[in-house]
Amino acid sequence: MDFPSGSGGSGEPPDPSQTSGGSVRATGGSVVTPPPPLSRYESQKRRDWNTFLQYLKNHKPPLTLSRCSGAHVIEFLKYLDQFGKTKVHANDCPYFGHPNPPAPCVCPLKQAWGSLDALIGRLRAAYEENGGQPESNPFGARAVRIYLREVKDSQAKARGIPYEKKKRKRAGGGGSTSGATTTAENPSVDGGGGEGGGGIIGTSEVAPVTSTV
Ligand SMILES: [Zn+2]
Repeated sequence: MDFPSGSGGSGEPPDPSQTSGGSVRATGGSVVTPPPPLSRYESQKRRDWNTFLQYLKNHKPPLTLSRCSGAHVIEFLKYLDQFGKTKVHANDCPYFGHPNPPAPCVCPLKQAWGSLDALIGRLRAAYEENGGQPESNPFGARAVRIYLREVKDSQAKARGIPYEKKKRKRAGGGGSTSGATTTAENPSVDGGGGEGGGGIIGTSEVAPVTSTV
């Protein structure tokens, strides 16, 4: 739906939101002002969204966005585990609960909870930016929230990493004063949020392309 605004005459004022500094508009209309570079978050969000759409396309049976539910979103998150880089020890692994195991083990690599949590946030925003209704947003579904919480709890145990802040007893801390609000929810996860900055799937492709030279 982008009509060329060439049929002029209605006298619209220039859009003030487009003042991105120094976009010179020459007469003749053939000047293309490049869009401002996307922020890291925005481009990551776009990549994630495309990944999800691709996933729907390849889904068997085929799935459309409008029929997508929280259960499908969870399925998607599980599917992403194959691209994960975070060792999550099984219950019977001797290193279960060890943050720094002394030797390798055969436990699978998965997506870290922090990555999934951030991903869902981006996809939830992307869904609504692409015309989805907030009340039908599958990424905001209760089931997804519950799933994420379960992942968080089980990974915290398996990896021996407390996502929840351990409350240190402060000497003389006067109860529930305002001091606690600044350090809201900042889990001490390393390797959680952005693993190397490549996002969940690194190369924006759904299919794992083996590009070994
Ligand atoms: Zn293990």
